[in-house]
Amino acid sequence: MPLTATLGKESRSSTAKAEKKSQLQILRAANFENLSSLVHGFSTRSGGFSAAYGGRQLNLGFTASDAHSAVERNRLAFLRSATGRSRAIPALVTLRQIHSGIVHILDRTRGIPERPLRGDGVITNRRGNLLGIQVADCVPVLVADRQGRAVGAFHAGWRGTAKRIVERGVGAMRAVFGCKPEELYAAIGPCIHACCYAVGDEVIDEFQSQFAYADDLFSEVYDRDPIKEKYPLLFLTARAPGHSNIGPQIHLDLVKANFNQLLEAGVPESNIWAAVECTSCRTDLLFSHRAESGYTGRMMALVGLLDKLT
Ligand SMILES: [Zn+2]
Repeated sequence: MPLTATLGKESRSSTAKAEKKSQLQILRAANFENLSSLVHGFSTRSGGFSAAYGGRQLNLGFTASDAHSAVERNRLAFLRSATGRSRAIPALVTLRQIHSGIVHILDRTRGIPERPLRGDGVITNRRGNLLGIQVADCVPVLVADRQGRAVGAFHAGWRGTAKRIVERGVGAMRAVFGCKPEELYAAIGPCIHACCYAVGDEVIDEFQSQFAYADDLFSEVYDRDPIKEKYPLLFLTARAPGHSNIGPQIHLDLVKANFNQLLEAGVPESNIWAAVECTSCRTDLLFSHRAESGYTGRMMALVGLLDKLT
């Protein structure tokens, strides 16, 4: 098992197909397109009804700065566009995300929960339901079974990634729904990439203690600072090497971390797709909590099994 596998060129280069429908854009994973009875999509920020965050934004989270009614309208527009249905839209199941390793199982014996469940993953074999994960930098991961046995949706920020939410989720799909890992397909949606994700000692320590391949997830990046570049003499320091605050920052690659977890869980590398877009680099298209200093909306990663008639 190649623990340190880098993203295959194919996975990286298979750019998401953006769909434009009345300015609402949805990114789709290329490897999910031929799976029957499956609906999925990653929302972007453009084309919604929210006045907050720049106007005409597709904010799908009930944030403090946005009107509840606008978010409701946005969700309806997104679900319609993602499912291709104008009515009889399947019920949406969302989570109260808490950066945990908790995966909920939604089987056919249980009804749809009335309130969002606390946790960061949900798997189901029910048809006619949609699972939604909300993000604005964290990694949304969708998993689908080629035979239509089940689907899963996971929210993996650094804490959830350290708690192996995706590895646990795929394990649960195997144990509960009898999925075979070689028949699973995974899509890693837009999130903050290593280019923009500087992290501190707490994160580095947590990953080093959790993953044998942790070193491969970190890189040193000299963040550009135009002031320092223009006036370097002002920032000369007499401190010993390695103790200067001008030095490189450590960046974490959450995409690779979750890619590795999918491999660890047995999903073949060729079945994994990852969006090329970094949320922090692409605030024209995507919401980024970090790039927008916390004042931003939420996108949604959506997956569901539909019945044959749909
Ligand atoms: Zn970036």
